[in-house]
Amino acid sequence: MLHSFLIKYAEIGVKGKNRYIFEDALIQQIKYGLRRLDGHYGVTKVSGRVYVECPEDFDYDGTVDVLRHVFGITAFCPMERIADRSIESIKKSAVEYIRNNYDKTDFSFKVDTKRADKGYPLNSMEADAIVGEAILEAFPETRVDVHEPEEVIHIEIREMINIYSKVIRGAGGMPIGTNGKAMLLLSGGIDSPVAGYMTAKRGVVIDAVYFHAPPYTSERAKQKVVELAELVSRYAGPVYLHVINFTDIQLYIYEKCPHDELTIIMRRYMMKIAERIANENDCLALVTGESIGQVASQTLKSLYVTDEAVKTMPVFRPLIGLDKQEIIDISEKIGTYETSIQPYEDCCTIFVAKHPVTKPNLKVIKHSEESLSEKIDEMLEEALQNDELIIVGKRSSGEEDK
Ligand code: ATP
Ligand code: MG
Repeated sequence: MLHSFLIKYAEIGVKGKNRYIFEDALIQQIKYGLRRLDGHYGVTKVSGRVYVECPEDFDYDGTVDVLRHVFGITAFCPMERIADRSIESIKKSAVEYIRNNYDKTDFSFKVDTKRADKGYPLNSMEADAIVGEAILEAFPETRVDVHEPEEVIHIEIREMINIYSKVIRGAGGMPIGTNGKAMLLLSGGIDSPVAGYMTAKRGVVIDAVYFHAPPYTSERAKQKVVELAELVSRYAGPVYLHVINFTDIQLYIYEKCPHDELTIIMRRYMMKIAERIANENDCLALVTGESIGQVASQTLKSLYVTDEAVKTMPVFRPLIGLDKQEIIDISEKIGTYETSIQPYEDCCTIFVAKHPVTKPNLKVIKHSEESLSEKIDEMLEEALQNDELIIVGKRSSGEEDK
């Protein structure tokens, strides 16, 4: 008996040539995910279907966990594949399948047999009846309901017999690598990892940039961001994280500009640096975790002024219309929340004014920025030159087929 998973993906928009790009990217991401686990997995595409073949003593929960993190999978089904095509073997295996995959068996079901091999001695309805009876006998608490069954036990008669029924929901979205690359401004907070997740979900590769301000922000705060990038990489694949030392720029702004404008000016320079790194790394957009009105620096006016700093690419804010609680719900679901709430200082809050402007005026802000003209360009260059690149979530692809 072969332990496998049948991978289901939405085929809308996956027509013609795109289909291969989509499927190949999907297979690559599944393989990437499975590298976390022991044993040899095979991921194959057979006549328009993607299968994961598991090793003999495979880690079921671990495998399910990996597959749940792969964008592009709408659902997946544990599947048993048997070589012995006799009806006796099918009966026995169907019963075993149910025993292995269900804790509770008081469900209604129907058997749905499909024959790719029309030469098989039984027709589909005969097979349905025989297997259904075997299930009723082994699990008397089940009942047959052909109209609205809770479980459909699929039997496929092909070159081998496929048995599956249980459907596990996948992450949805599009496979990573089908939609270009974007640069995420990743802080240690709750929002930006969620913004990264949502962008990656549409098939976008994520690079990230983190601004830290040692010694005002600690090594531990940076480590937390690396951990968040690692959690995002479980969905997004390897993340190239650029760590930019922002201390001198912050101190300079603090020295030269009105303190109530600090946050907004700092954010504009973060955007400018992120844009430069994005351009150098073929990213087509910036991504932030901002949502309208969440804090002073995210009023619509503030967003307007922040956005104006970026000239060559769009800035995506996938959380724009979400309430904080909705963002928290997603961060809990994707597993970043616990790390995000660890209390480490954030470079934005260190120098923050008691009463930051909530309605910045672009002209006024630009005027304030003029007082930085002497040194700021040089400082930006220096910050870019000292870019520390940390590659997060990279797994050796030495074993190609794994
Ligand atoms: P988050 O929870 O993502 O930190 P926040 O609610 O704390 O967001 P801000 O601190 O105003 O909001 O930051 C808004 C956005 O700016 C963040 O979502 C992130 O994209 C970016 N950002 C803020 N601080 C940093 C930083 N130190 N490094 C990189 N990006 C940052
Ligand atoms: Mg923050």
